[in-house]
Amino acid sequence: MKQLIIILISIIALSCQPKTEPESYKVPVYAWVGGPGKSTDQEITEQFTKLKNHGIDGLMYNGGQNPETYKRVGKIAKAVGLEFHTWIPTMLQGGSEMKQEWYAINGKGESTYDKPPYVNYYKFLCPSHEGVYEFLAGMYGAVADVPEVDGIHLDYIRFPDVILARGLWDKYGLVMDKEYPEYDYCYCDKCTGDFMEKTGIDIKSADDPSQVQEWKQFRYDLITKIVNRLAKVVHEKGKKINAAVFPGPNSIAKQIVRQEWDKWDLDAVYPMNYNDFYLKSPEWVGEVTKEGVDALDGKAKLYSGLFICPNPEKKMAQKDPENHGLLPEELETAIRGSMENGATGICLFTPGRMTDAHWAAFDKAIRTKYEVK
Ligand SMILES: [Zn+2]
Repeated sequence: MKQLIIILISIIALSCQPKTEPESYKVPVYAWVGGPGKSTDQEITEQFTKLKNHGIDGLMYNGGQNPETYKRVGKIAKAVGLEFHTWIPTMLQGGSEMKQEWYAINGKGESTYDKPPYVNYYKFLCPSHEGVYEFLAGMYGAVADVPEVDGIHLDYIRFPDVILARGLWDKYGLVMDKEYPEYDYCYCDKCTGDFMEKTGIDIKSADDPSQVQEWKQFRYDLITKIVNRLAKVVHEKGKKINAAVFPGPNSIAKQIVRQEWDKWDLDAVYPMNYNDFYLKSPEWVGEVTKEGVDALDGKAKLYSGLFICPNPEKKMAQKDPENHGLLPEELETAIRGSMENGATGICLFTPGRMTDAHWAAFDKAIRTKYEVK
């Protein structure tokens, strides 16, 4: 009789269990956040606490290049229980310590130093110069030395867009149906000389450099080399290193910004799977996640970067893709697609753009356990 009661209790207990996964399961979530501006410690604490309560596990924090800033903000992130990665642009630099000859040169011989493409802040360095590497190694190294910093997050670790994302053509009034010399970098003497030495090809006299496969590979390799050298510096300090990258790598990143990121010695990549920039549906986020996970083949983790629409009711009326992004009702599709295709987690651009409706959809979607296809 006693045994029967125990069995009955067990059956009742089992049947009462919720069908969903236990409360403890959650998709790992990161967020790109900038600051601190004039915020007080109290204000930052409140901001970070809110993010933590929304299920965010770690920050990619953009706060300039001063290690002291990251020490101060990192201390608050740690106290709140957030992982803390410093989000600092790599090849895009405008500081006064930069030398003019470090800047990338396009196919028409123009430098990003005084003639940047697309927008006036697009001052990209050339990865071939040893001084560029030394500057970056020193800057990232000093930030990685801060005890509160868990990792270095590279961004703009690439060449300028030789082709703009399809969704941006109208904004800039351009038709980028092929590579044009004014957007094609780097034709500085160092790069073209090194390429000549390596391959025997004088790229400056080529009829159509975009058809020279070795020239493309040479530039993928320049970025890969500098990433891997920086990874060594950061890893030797016992810190993680990861990067925001374009989607792909093969379908987009290599073709438009020359990032062969599946070859990079990083702990994780954060592809900016911003479907609206490529005039793609939320389902595409899953497809391109699969491409990235397959390419990495276990070499690094992949966190799927999601671009949030800040003003959902006005999305259709907005021409600028910067104001597009995932609607609340699209968020689940993007999160599910990412996780079912092998992402380790997701990253939000940015939590500040999330509406109440976004948070409600997000809250549910990140507490679902997805099966990898
Ligand atoms: Zn160069």
